[in-house]
Amino acid sequence: MAEAFDFIVIGAGAAGVSVAGELSLKGRVALVERESAPAYHSTSRSAAVLAENYGPVGWQRLSTASRPFFENPPAGFAEHPLLRPLGALFLATEAEAPALEESARELARRGVPHRLLPAREAGALSPTVRREPFALALHEPGCADIDAAALVQGYVRLVRRNGASVVLDAEVRSIERRGGTWRVEAGKAMLAAPILVNAAGAWADDIAALAGLPRRGVTPYRRTAITFDPPEGADTRSWPMTFDMAETWYFKPEAGRIMVSPVDKTPSPPCDCRPEDYDVAVAVDRIEQATTMQVRRIHSCWAGLRTFAPDEQPVIGPDPADPGFVWLAGQGGNGVMAAPAAARLAAALATGAGVPAALARLGVGVAATSPGRLPPQPSER
Ligand SMILES: Cc1cc2nc3c(=O)[nH]c(=O)nc-3n(C[C@H](O)[C@H](O)[C@H](O)COP(=O)(O)OP(=O)(O)OC[C@H]3O[C@@H](n4cnc5c(N)ncnc54)[C@H](O)[C@@H]3O)c2cc1C
Repeated sequence: MAEAFDFIVIGAGAAGVSVAGELSLKGRVALVERESAPAYHSTSRSAAVLAENYGPVGWQRLSTASRPFFENPPAGFAEHPLLRPLGALFLATEAEAPALEESARELARRGVPHRLLPAREAGALSPTVRREPFALALHEPGCADIDAAALVQGYVRLVRRNGASVVLDAEVRSIERRGGTWRVEAGKAMLAAPILVNAAGAWADDIAALAGLPRRGVTPYRRTAITFDPPEGADTRSWPMTFDMAETWYFKPEAGRIMVSPVDKTPSPPCDCRPEDYDVAVAVDRIEQATTMQVRRIHSCWAGLRTFAPDEQPVIGPDPADPGFVWLAGQGGNGVMAAPAAARLAAALATGAGVPAALARLGVGVAATSPGRLPPQPSER
């Protein structure tokens, strides 16, 4: 006998816990996760930064729309502030300068504080970065570190407080549509609901296929990160996260160390991915070329999957092949920073409420996020 819910959410990363939080205000939710704890995959491997100039514009808008939640979460959501000031600096060559100027105009449209400055002044903010070959810089002072663990725990607490079931150690192995009801076998549980939310991260296309619906070409890519000790005596606390526009490296201060990514984007099957030696070596080489820092010892390294639609924009909303199947996928590198607003959008579309006004004002619309814009892919991976 299946237990009946209003909504079943598959996946307990940033996407799943946040949409379960939103939906638990509207009905009975089952949040289902394969692992024994939430956020084991991409969400715990993120740089966990809110940078509103980062990523495809559809995700940037959802990141901006998420800031009020991070700054002012519901009462009792977290014991400490979810954000810690960081700042971000984006560096462009002469050839990339027009694109950076366009980024500045997009930030201005959304009311995001920022400043364009000559690259020769960037050293005052990010002291180790080499001036060559850059011409222009953009400073985003409001960029912040997110306490991703507190975000996830806050949503899980909210979900439980609202009477939802959080079902862990429960891999979804079969999904059947009978009449207007989804029947989902998840570990030892049998669950039923009229609406299924696909928040399965790197596995989102597999979940669609399991439900007998088209894959939408939502593809995981591996990204690597390392940490190492900063130069002796350096006080890194005021350093901003620093990016090159060509997306070949970024670095930021992280708990007394420096975190670097070589900004790799290697296609991968969905998996519990590990860093490759080659990508770690590239990270070291790029940071030593781009800055005056030397990597004497790698303190830690890891890799995670970032999952993109073919056009890299959000995949949020009902599938036209079955409106009871709602996608919340393709977060790429924005899935933590955009989680609160993306969840609000997914929950609104799942319940037929349309795009929330605060999101529509920022330019978020159904056509640009609907999975229906993505041509169905062959059913076998
Ligand atoms: C190195 C790196 C740096 C990043 N930096 C940032 C950053 O600074 N800011 C930012 O916003 N984002 C960043 N990201 C991206 C961010 O981590 C992702 O966008 C986000 O975590 C995606 O969340 P998710 O919930 O969709 O996926 P996940 O966290 O992977 O969650 C999906 C869940 O679904 C579960 N699942 C899948 N299939 C099944 C099944 N059949 N049955 C049951 N459960 C299932 C999985 O077990 C998993 O727990 C970064 C990513 C990486 C790798």
